[in-house]
Amino acid sequence: MPTFQRKLLIMLGLALAIVSMTAAAVMYNARQEAQTEQLVHQSGSRITILDNLLASLFEAESSQRAFAASRDALFINEHRQERDDVERLLAAFQQQDFAGDPALTTQLAELIEQRTALMDELLLVSQEQGTVAAAQMIASYEGKRIMDRIRDVSSRMVQAERGRMDRKLLESERLSQRLQRWVVLAGLINSLLLVGAFLLIRREAQRSENLVEQLRQTSSEVTLVNQLSSGLQSCETREDTAAVLQHYMQRLFPGMTGGLYLMRGSRNLLQLAAAWGEEADHLVDPIEPQQCWALRMGHTHQTSDPDKALRCQHWPDLHHAYLCLPLLAQGEIVGMLHLSLRDKGKLEEAQRLAELLSTHAAAAMAGILLREALHHQSVRDPLTGLFNRRYLEETMEREQLRAKRNKSGFGLIMLDVDHFKRFNDDYGHQAGDLLLKELSQYLRRYIRGEDIPCRYGGEEFLLVLPGATLEQCRERGEEIRRNLAGLQLDFQGQRLPSVTASIGVAAYPDHGEEWQGIQHLADKALYQAKRSGRNQVNVAPLPSTADEK
Ligand code: GH3
Ligand code: MG
Ligand code: MG
Repeated sequence: MPTFQRKLLIMLGLALAIVSMTAAAVMYNARQEAQTEQLVHQSGSRITILDNLLASLFEAESSQRAFAASRDALFINEHRQERDDVERLLAAFQQQDFAGDPALTTQLAELIEQRTALMDELLLVSQEQGTVAAAQMIASYEGKRIMDRIRDVSSRMVQAERGRMDRKLLESERLSQRLQRWVVLAGLINSLLLVGAFLLIRREAQRSENLVEQLRQTSSEVTLVNQLSSGLQSCETREDTAAVLQHYMQRLFPGMTGGLYLMRGSRNLLQLAAAWGEEADHLVDPIEPQQCWALRMGHTHQTSDPDKALRCQHWPDLHHAYLCLPLLAQGEIVGMLHLSLRDKGKLEEAQRLAELLSTHAAAAMAGILLREALHHQSVRDPLTGLFNRRYLEETMEREQLRAKRNKSGFGLIMLDVDHFKRFNDDYGHQAGDLLLKELSQYLRRYIRGEDIPCRYGGEEFLLVLPGATLEQCRERGEEIRRNLAGLQLDFQGQRLPSVTASIGVAAYPDHGEEWQGIQHLADKALYQAKRSGRNQVNVAPLPSTADEK
């Protein structure tokens, strides 16, 4: 049986036992009171019988004296009546069980009999010898002496009986007082027990309420974790992953501040990809791996007591508990999940859930990294490492939109090696390949980080220069062309001759709104350069000029 039920049962059992005991005590007291009342009543009637007996005896004595003095028959009749009463009451008296010495009853009866015998004697003397003889007899004080003793004995008997009555009454009163005290005490104990039971029930109710709340939370947590997991599985890019995590983390960790950091390709910086919560402004971006203990040690770093634990450099001392979890995919750190909370009591629970989520997030990131690696392979030209035509087509849509949105422009530089077929023929295909590789390296030197160098096909290259004007592209093309003569190559111990290239240039928005049209114009400009004798830069005619032509 659960402890709560056992305790409640004990408390209610005790309360019930106390109520039963109180009821039994009240009943016992009532019975005792009834008995006392009966005894008091009996004592009263005993004393009354004795009083009546003595009164009749006195009456009989006085009527007998009156007869002795007057010899009037009226008194003799009255005397006889009184004597009958004495007889009757004496018989009743002897039946009574008086308190005290039982010998007193016998003694009093004997005295009364002596006194009545003396009365009979006096009556006989007064009838036979006259009033003088009777007066002499009375004067002997024998009757008075007996009567005094009767008074003495009866008074002792009445005292003893009253004593018994008083004792009984006192006993009964004490019992009532004890009962009163018990009733008060029992009431108090029962009140305490009931208060205790109430508190116990309230605590249990609170506990089960908490349990229900916990269950509700857990089930909504499970639902959210499942949704998060399937959301992560359908992510295709790092950005998608960050957005999905941010959405669910806010719901799974309400009131907490958090951030998702993702490792950059350079592997020496982590960028903040998502941030949420009240103190998100405190999240540093970017961070270096050595600034975080979780990244240094490769496992969760938590601080429930920020004053004592090792503090990460990337999180300010806000006196909160916090958690950093490294995201590990195939043994490599791909990111870090940070959570900070004011309520230190929730740290353990948060860690449990965050560790579960970090495995989902890391698995999703691993998938994305793999996809990125595959994508890298498929968008790069294997010989030169430059982007291929497919990538160019994907990118140009984006570049065009960006240029439109930013109201900026982009330029295209199209380059074709002159007489490459001949070069191949003269020095071999391998030398041709080497030339293409070295030319790619050479071209990279003339572009900025955001420019896109592509091998468009064979010995044709396309450079996309976001933000560049037509004139800047022309100048860049010219620079490339001019300096190409300085590109010297050795192949199998042989110095290869330098090559020249023809270049066509066009730009957005100068040559139109659609990149395909612009690229077509650059291509045409290139062939115009070929036709004009090669080794030159040709800017595509502007649409208005072309129209004029
Ligand atoms: P033009 O000045 O008119 O451009 O003449 P060209 O010979 O450069 O042009 P053409 O289009 O006639 O010949 C291009 C040659 O480039 C043909 C092909 O064998 C060669 N080529 C294409 N791709 C590669 C490659 O990957 N490696 C090597 N070594 N040669 C290639
Ligand atoms: Mg060509
Ligand atoms: Mg060529």
